[in-house]
Amino acid sequence: MNLIFDAHLDLAMNAIEWNRDLTRPLEELRQREEGMKDKPDRGHGTISFAEMRRGGIGLCVATQLARVEHNAYSPIFGWRSPAQAWAMTQAQLAWYRAMEEAGEMVQIRDRAGLEDHVTKWRQADAMQAAQLPIGFIMSLEGADSMRTPAHLERSYADGLRAIGPAHYGPGVYANGTDASGGLNARGRDLIKEIDRLGLILDVTHLCDDCFWETLDLFQGPVWASHQNCRALVPHMRQFSDEQIRALVARDAVIGCALDAWMLVPGWVRGQTTPESSGVTLEHFANHIDHICQLAGNARHVGIGSDLDGCFGTEQTAQDLESIADLTKLSGILQARGYTEEDRNGINSATFIRFLLSHWK
Ligand SMILES: [Zn+2]
Repeated sequence: MNLIFDAHLDLAMNAIEWNRDLTRPLEELRQREEGMKDKPDRGHGTISFAEMRRGGIGLCVATQLARVEHNAYSPIFGWRSPAQAWAMTQAQLAWYRAMEEAGEMVQIRDRAGLEDHVTKWRQADAMQAAQLPIGFIMSLEGADSMRTPAHLERSYADGLRAIGPAHYGPGVYANGTDASGGLNARGRDLIKEIDRLGLILDVTHLCDDCFWETLDLFQGPVWASHQNCRALVPHMRQFSDEQIRALVARDAVIGCALDAWMLVPGWVRGQTTPESSGVTLEHFANHIDHICQLAGNARHVGIGSDLDGCFGTEQTAQDLESIADLTKLSGILQARGYTEEDRNGINSATFIRFLLSHWK
């Protein structure tokens, strides 16, 4: 298989909060949501395990995700306390374990496990891949649920290997999207604990102040799991060219995302449609290409689609019907002159190389 590594998928959130059984066919998942109005993306999901295998997405970063709500602001749900948020992340962990027991997924925690898994997928043909478990590296999106920085060691023992300190708005430790200001004292302690345990720090969602402070404070490996370019879509959720250059200098990898409002400027949630905006995978390729042009090479960018991360086909590229359509990216990049090595790197090899270089 031509392996694709997706650096950001909220699989457990879909299973538990959206009540999607990802072991079922995508068509069935959509049909079951017909007429439901509790979430904006009902009936528009793009992910099932079968679709992932069909597209060769045999390896991903899968999240635990639970926010704490401090004030009225947030586009997504938040819990009232870190203890409640922690409990949700533990439910998500329990679902990943159930999927491992069912042979649907396998958690990747170290270099040997990664090498073994990648070899299996690369050697498999499509029929064999349909039977393989999907590898996942567990990451925590937003650290609000860490009741204390010391709880991080427990999560590390559960296989947590990456963490983003912030999500939307002001967080328990750091300020995220649409907020401003630096880390608080607990946030600085958390960054030191992330360093001590050797987790990857995910700078996605950090506001600009926290981004620069974190890069100064943190010594270990950094990535941005789902992140696009401010030069193409002006908003602080995207990174400026200066931020992208700083990440390249740190030998970081940036995964580009497929949420339509981050692909094209002027998107209004619930109003703009893929058809009215004309958004396609070419726009996705534009963000990837912009990072490559800034870096001077294709060795710092990959895919962090964020598909089914509170949006589906109503808010993504119109030529993407399921996650399996990520396979179309390679042809788009080939038409723009990207070599086979570059395209393999963007599909998976760059993130894999990054992990192999930082893991024991
Ligand atoms: Zn996110």
